[in-house]
Amino acid sequence: MDENIAPQLEDLTRALGDLEKTGIRAEFDKLLAFRVPPEIAKESILRKFGGKRKVLKVKDLSASLKNFEITGRILDIGEKAIRPREGAPDGPSRLYLGVLADETGSVMFSSWKELPGSGGDVINVKNAYTRLWQNRIRLSIGEQSLVSKVSDSLLPQLSELSISPAKKLIDIGAADFSVGTVACVLQLSHREVLIRGKQSKVISGVFADETGRLPFSAWVELPGIDIGSIIRIEGAQSRMFRGMPSINILSSTKVSSIGSEDAESLAFTFESAAKDPVPLKIEEIDSRDSMFDIAAAGNVVSVRPGSGIISRCPECSRVVQKSNCRAHGKVEGIRDMRIKAILDDGTGAMSVMFPRELAEIIYGKTLEEAEQLMFSDISKDAVYEDLRRILTGRYLAVRGNASKGEYGISFVAESAWVPEDDLTVRAVELLHRLGQDEEEPGSEVSRGGMSLA
Ligand SMILES: [Zn+2]
Repeated sequence: MDENIAPQLEDLTRALGDLEKTGIRAEFDKLLAFRVPPEIAKESILRKFGGKRKVLKVKDLSASLKNFEITGRILDIGEKAIRPREGAPDGPSRLYLGVLADETGSVMFSSWKELPGSGGDVINVKNAYTRLWQNRIRLSIGEQSLVSKVSDSLLPQLSELSISPAKKLIDIGAADFSVGTVACVLQLSHREVLIRGKQSKVISGVFADETGRLPFSAWVELPGIDIGSIIRIEGAQSRMFRGMPSINILSSTKVSSIGSEDAESLAFTFESAAKDPVPLKIEEIDSRDSMFDIAAAGNVVSVRPGSGIISRCPECSRVVQKSNCRAHGKVEGIRDMRIKAILDDGTGAMSVMFPRELAEIIYGKTLEEAEQLMFSDISKDAVYEDLRRILTGRYLAVRGNASKGEYGISFVAESAWVPEDDLTVRAVELLHRLGQDEEEPGSEVSRGGMSLA
């Protein structure tokens, strides 16, 4: 071995494991061939494959993840010939498509390179990424990814992984290629939608169990199943819908009713699952990628700029600046009102979006009244300032959907209210602190803005 590179290789082995097997040695040699000094080549490799390397399981996958490592068993693999792109005749001509599974679930993958394993083998992928493709999360293996075949004993056997696991709703991930659950139907409605120019019937609704709720859609009839039914689903797929997983029932999905006897052994009933969600700690919401139809409560610690009266494009509903839509150019905007506020409950904070109907309630002014304020005041921020004055410090409960993005949790409220119990407790606490616990707390409470409830 070249003694110039031996110490570098040693360092790399210590940090990244077997260099030959993972393909890192070849990467290193490539850099040397480009006359990169060994020390710099080592640093570059460590930056790319080491350092803040994330090791993920299938259940952790969400859209747009980059540079992570994952180990899975190939459940299925096929290949597709790709017509060379114009101007890049030397580009890859084959795309490998398949399903990769670990003990937490299975995910579709695509690879631009031939894999060192076939159906049944366990592979490790470094520098993998995810893409959203047709509303589904796909694990992507690109030119920059390193794939190696690893020990078979790392994961359960093929026969075990091939059965779509039964999960609680809270554990169903956005990437699940095939999943099962036992849940009750909380909402259900029939719609007709246009798909590729064809009218198609779709059933959509909401499932619930003792852990939470998830929306679903079915592209097949569900005979005998209605609101209140408790059903078992096998081989459904996860799809992303408005930033959160949704269960998709296809013709290949097995759906069966649970008899009343079997239903007795479940941890939920229709009645318990249909109850309004109890407020969760924001810390708990923050520990998940997304949560559907949940409640939280906290203090408004700030009202974000962009709150107040806005103008929307009549075509696409995007917010327009100076009558200019990003997609449609000059447009006659439609006025709307919204509030974006930061809610903090002591365990964490999240950004909550209140659409117009809720904004009007928590602000206590209608859009028209806010417009009057806007026109009567010389400051163009009059409504925003008014919102800040009225809302900052207020205690609110919200119900809606939460999803996590680059800037933390964003919550879209579907209802909002002042929690009465909390308000009473808090008012009593306040009175204690002020040494006025002789007084009747009720009179204080009513000043807190209960009219919102
Ligand atoms: Zn537009």
